[in-house]
Amino acid sequence: MKKLAALLLAVVMVFSLTACGSKDDGNKGTTAAPAGDTTAAAGDETAASAETEGTTAAAAANGEGKTYVIATDTTFAPFEFENDNGEMVGIDLDLLAAIAEDQGFEYELQVVGFNAAVTALESGEVDAVIAGMSITEKREKLYDFSEPYFDSGVGMAVAADSEIASYEDLKGQQVAAKIGTEGCTFAESIADQYGFTIAQFEQSAEMYQDVLSGTSVACFDDYPVLGYEISRGTELKLPLPMEQGSSYGFAVLKGENAELLEMFDKGLANLKASGKYDEIVNTYVATGSADDAETESAAETESAAETESAAAAE
Ligand code: GLN
Repeated sequence: MKKLAALLLAVVMVFSLTACGSKDDGNKGTTAAPAGDTTAAAGDETAASAETEGTTAAAAANGEGKTYVIATDTTFAPFEFENDNGEMVGIDLDLLAAIAEDQGFEYELQVVGFNAAVTALESGEVDAVIAGMSITEKREKLYDFSEPYFDSGVGMAVAADSEIASYEDLKGQQVAAKIGTEGCTFAESIADQYGFTIAQFEQSAEMYQDVLSGTSVACFDDYPVLGYEISRGTELKLPLPMEQGSSYGFAVLKGENAELLEMFDKGLANLKASGKYDEIVNTYVATGSADDAETESAAETESAAETESAAAAE
């Protein structure tokens, strides 16, 4: 995967002339040459990295009915990522497995990346997306979301030894963002004001690499994800507090799969009531309580040690 990502890195990049670009931004056509290249590269990537995982957990209760196809991101820890045993795990995927078990539905997971997942939902190739997907007003016009299951927001990460401490410091520089995400939308919303350009990537890992290599001076991604990445030893830091808060939801296409959405909400409520929700979140985020509001500050606390030691080194 890493080698593949590195190989694709050059082709997958698009510069900031294009908008943040996923279907949910309403950019259906990719007529410009760079965007066309990106689409082709993304297609290859999807084909190469799509792992279809049958779920044993969900298979039990319900013999009847369909197997839902649910798309997720590739690496968006702690929400979805591959563990040392090569299994896809994380808060999203553990919640989904527990909810499916609770509600007795079956599903097949497609690990395709965030933008690809949303595109697949849009075209009806998959029934739902769970991928740390922020519930936004714009998206609510296109998708039906579950009840929010995790509070999040956007953050800016810079290299651990970077002197960038504010958006003003980005003047004349390039930053990295992930296609079709709220991080990208946020970066775009302040790019003119602070005078920076945006390089867009399909995957979070590619963004981090671009910052670590010094090509981009900063990247914009979800704050708890950046915090988790830093807590795992990636040499980044978060010089500023979280921006643009939003909550994650499980998404289906508007008006479709209402029964799946209903099962998700019921299952989620059951997991919250039984303590299983807290248990899952606490597996990945070191917090005393998994109250939505507190998980953010837990991610912050996790990264704070790294940030401080990086600051001390300067
Ligand atoms: N929460 C962000 C969004 O919905 C990013 C999701 C992701 O990259 N998996 O845009």
